[in-house]
Amino acid sequence: MDTTLAQTWLRAVASAVDQRQQELTELDSAIGDGDHGSNLHRGFTAVLPAIEDLDSAGAVLSKAGSTLISKVGGASGPLYGKAFRAMGGALTEGDDFGSALAAGLAAIRRLGGAAPGDKTIVDAWAPAVAAFERTGSYADAAAAAEQGALDTVPLQARKGRASYLGPRSIGHQDPGATSTALILRALAECAPDTP
Ligand code: ADP
Ligand code: MG
Repeated sequence: MDTTLAQTWLRAVASAVDQRQQELTELDSAIGDGDHGSNLHRGFTAVLPAIEDLDSAGAVLSKAGSTLISKVGGASGPLYGKAFRAMGGALTEGDDFGSALAAGLAAIRRLGGAAPGDKTIVDAWAPAVAAFERTGSYADAAAAAEQGALDTVPLQARKGRASYLGPRSIGHQDPGATSTALILRALAECAPDTP
């Protein structure tokens, strides 16, 4: 991943969040407090000017992460913020994108303590890491995240605000897993896989 791809990716995320803000909010209204769309909209809107004059992909992702942490109050701000900071740090160390994606997952799990199956961001991010490890394809990572988000529907939430609902969280798609799928789909759309 080079500087331009990192910037293009984050701009694509901001645009996708802009288009799908209402959908994210509706998902969070069903099992949370209805602010996931507006949280991410505020966060990624602030990321855009912050990443303009940077000269490495690692710096761009790290800056995006620290901006999300400072601008988003909800659970998702610190979680995505730490994830992007960890990805940026990994790229700065010279790691490849697969390792960076895995570092992002580790940061989310360290902060939030969620395991796969808890109906959170982890349920989309973890299958994306596994898919990218297998094939090195952004499109495969995005598809795995989308499937992971769909697979949260029958789960009962065990972390985050939705867990307060107990069994009533069953039957709804997790907002955070859905936004993770959006983030990785945005990457697949601006980074065509090289055969
Ligand atoms: P809040 O819950 O503070 O209103 P958001 O609505 O922005 O924050 O984000 C909610 C999403 O955050 C959930 O759908 C879930 O995917 C994710 N989430 C919450 N807690 C955790 C956690 N401990 N680990 C991973 N993801 C979490
Ligand atoms: Mg919320």
